Amino acid sequence: MLNIVLFGPPGAGKGTQSERLIGRYNLVHLSTGDIFRANIKGETELGLLAKSYMDKGNLVPDEVTINMLKSEVSKHENAKGFIFDGFPRTNAQAEALDAFLASIHSGITMMVGLEVAENELRERLKKRAEVSGRPDDANPEVIRNRISVYNSETAPVKDYYEKQGKYVAVDGIGSIDDITNRLYAAIDTI
Ligand code: ADP
Repeated sequence: MLNIVLFGPPGAGKGTQSERLIGRYNLVHLSTGDIFRANIKGETELGLLAKSYMDKGNLVPDEVTINMLKSEVSKHENAKGFIFDGFPRTNAQAEALDAFLASIHSGITMMVGLEVAENELRERLKKRAEVSGRPDDANPEVIRNRISVYNSETAPVKDYYEKQGKYVAVDGIGSIDDITNRLYAAIDTI
C-alpha cells in the first residue's frame, strides 16, 4: 500500500492537493475535517459533538477522531492506499494510526509536509472564508486559535515521522500546479 500523510497548517492547501494526488496514485482520500463536516450536515451524534470543538477552532478529542478514522479505513478493504489529510493531528493519533495500520499489515509510507509561512496562511484563510461558508474560517479569533493549536499540538507530529525517516518537506508557496508537481516529485522518489 501507498499510505501518505499530507501534512501542513490550516490553509496550506492539503485538500486541493489531495484531490490531485488521488487520481495519479489511485488512492482513497480521507480528510477528517471533511468527514466531520459531512456529519455536521447530516446532524449525526458525531457531528454534533465535533461541531462544539470545531466552531472554536479546537481539536475534536483523540479517541473520537481515532475511532472514526479506523472505521473509515475499514470501509475500503481493497484500497491501494490512502491519503490522510488532517490526520494525524496529535502524537497520540500518530501512534494509534501506526498501531492500527500494523494490525492490518500495513504502515505509513511517508509524510509530505506543505510548508507555508504564517502570514500567507492568514491571507489564504481570509479569502477562503468568502467562499467556503465554514464558520471556522469566518472568525479571526477562531483562525488565531487554529493556528495556535496547530503550533502546539500538531507541529510535533512532524518530528514523530522525521524520527522514522519518513518526513519530506515541500514548498507550499506558488501556483497550485507548481505545488502539485513538487508533490509528485517527492512521492515519486520512493
Ligand atoms: P484546516 O486544515 O483548514 O484547519 P480541517 O478541515 O482539516 O481544516 O479541520 C477543521 C477542524 O476539524 C479542525 O479545526 C478540528 O476542529 C477538526 N479536526 C479535523 N481533523 C482533526 C483531527 N485529526 N483531530 C482532531 N480534530 C480534527
